[in-house]
Formats: sequence, structure tokens, C-alpha cells
Amino acid sequence: MDSTIRQISKSVYAVIGPEGATNFTIVKASDGSAALIDADIRRIDEVEEALRLTGCARVGYLIDTHEHFDHTSANFYFAQKQIPIFASAGCLHAMQEDGPADFARMLRPVPELYERFSGLCLTLPDVVFEKATEIRLPGVTLSLEYRAANGHSHSKGDTTIYFHEEEVLVAGDLLYTEVHPVTFFGNIPNWLTALKPLFECHYQQLIPGHGPAVDGEQAGRAYFKRMHDYLEDFYGHLADINSGRKSREEVARHMQSGAYTRLGKTRMVERNINQFLTGKWF
Ligand SMILES: [Zn+2]
Repeated sequence: MDSTIRQISKSVYAVIGPEGATNFTIVKASDGSAALIDADIRRIDEVEEALRLTGCARVGYLIDTHEHFDHTSANFYFAQKQIPIFASAGCLHAMQEDGPADFARMLRPVPELYERFSGLCLTLPDVVFEKATEIRLPGVTLSLEYRAANGHSHSKGDTTIYFHEEEVLVAGDLLYTEVHPVTFFGNIPNWLTALKPLFECHYQQLIPGHGPAVDGEQAGRAYFKRMHDYLEDFYGHLADINSGRKSREEVARHMQSGAYTRLGKTRMVERNINQFLTGKWF
């Protein structure tokens, strides 16, 4: 399955990853430059094609919503073009700490990328903010807000981006729609805390880190609430495994039934359970 390029508003385009793969967002300014939000080196051709098809002459800024490889691994590619890369201090610190090992592990299945991109390596953001910052391009005002409650929610860098002129909110991986989330790098209680203020946010269009974009604030709130309830339910069930009240299998079944029956990426359920119980990645 291929990605879909969706026009979200007059100047916003989202590359919606197939089957819940990572979304990338392009905000096009009136001079043809663009702010690009997240990019994965494994899917750089899709990103470049989207920039071309949407008529963007150049990327003015790259923004990392958080530190995970599928959102930051193309930093190298854009840094080579002298494009400034924005991220939260939380994202930067997480990349400094876990980035090198994570980068090598994620590239192991695709060693050819080292040949295609000579010198390919973990590349840190170079414009870093603590709580909030603003980015401007002609006709574009973006507010970046750090939202990782207690420094660690879905990730340590969780940032949302709000495009004022067209009222579009990019939620990063604090929100997954229609697919099971990746929870094992996260802190679920903090993630629940981080979601609460998002119930009250204002926007016309909402773009999650994974899954389809959402039309309207009412539908968006329902998705944020659903995300919250999923995580709360899952966390309660992990406690039940730990205390011996439920087996892993029972919990895995529960997370794929009822309200969750139709969610995609079901393979994440078992991985989320296993990672939490073993504390190991993969
Ligand atoms: Zn993530």
C-alpha cells in the first residue's frame, strides 16, 4: 500500500503513512517555501515527492515532533541542505541519550541507506526550545508547544504544532487514530496527563502521528478521548498481569475486542505488553 498525500487545508498537506505508518506534514508558505514536520530517511522519496507534487520550492524548516527514529531519521538529509531543525529540549536530550543505539538498530535492516546517503548518522536538532516557540514563514505562524508531562509521555520530546492562519493542529504521537499505538517507549500515566489539555484545544483540522487525519474539533476531541481511554484501560490491564489477576493472553485478547476490534496494527498489542513486562525493546 502506498502513502496518501491529503490536502488538509489550503496550505497544509499530510503524507498519511499506509497502514498506520508515520505521517509527515507539509505547511506551505505563500512564497513557496515549506515547514516540514517529521521525516523518516527510509521514506525520504515519499517526502520529496510530496514536496514536489505540492509545489514547494524549498524546505525552510524541519520540525521534529519527538525523538523517535521514524520522525527524526531524515534530520541528516535536511541538515546537509543547511535547513534548520527545530525540536524541544526534551527531544534533544533523548536523542543524545538513546539516539545512537536506536539509530543503528533501526538501520540494521536497511544497510543500503548508508551507501545511498554517505555519512548517514544520527543528526540532532539545532534549534531547541524548552516550553514553546514560534516559527514564521510568509503567511504561516506555527506555535510549537512541549507537552510531555513530567518530561516523558509518549516520548520525552512530545511537541504539538499549531498553524494559526488555518487552524490546524499536528499532534505527533500523542495521538494515534484507527491504529494501536506504540506505548513501550512511553510513560502511560504521564501520557494520560498530557492528553487532558488536548481535549480543550481549538482547531479545524487535526493530524495525528499515525493514522488518518481528523476533520473538525468535535471529532478530534472524541479521538483524543478514545486515545486516553485506551491507554487507561491498557495500563489497568498491565497492572492485572503484574498482580496475576489476568494472563497476557487475556489482556491481548481484550485489547483487540470491543471498542478496539477495528483498530489496525494489531501486532503492536503483543509488543506493547511484552515490552512493558520485560522492559526490553523488541
Ligand atoms: Zn513515536
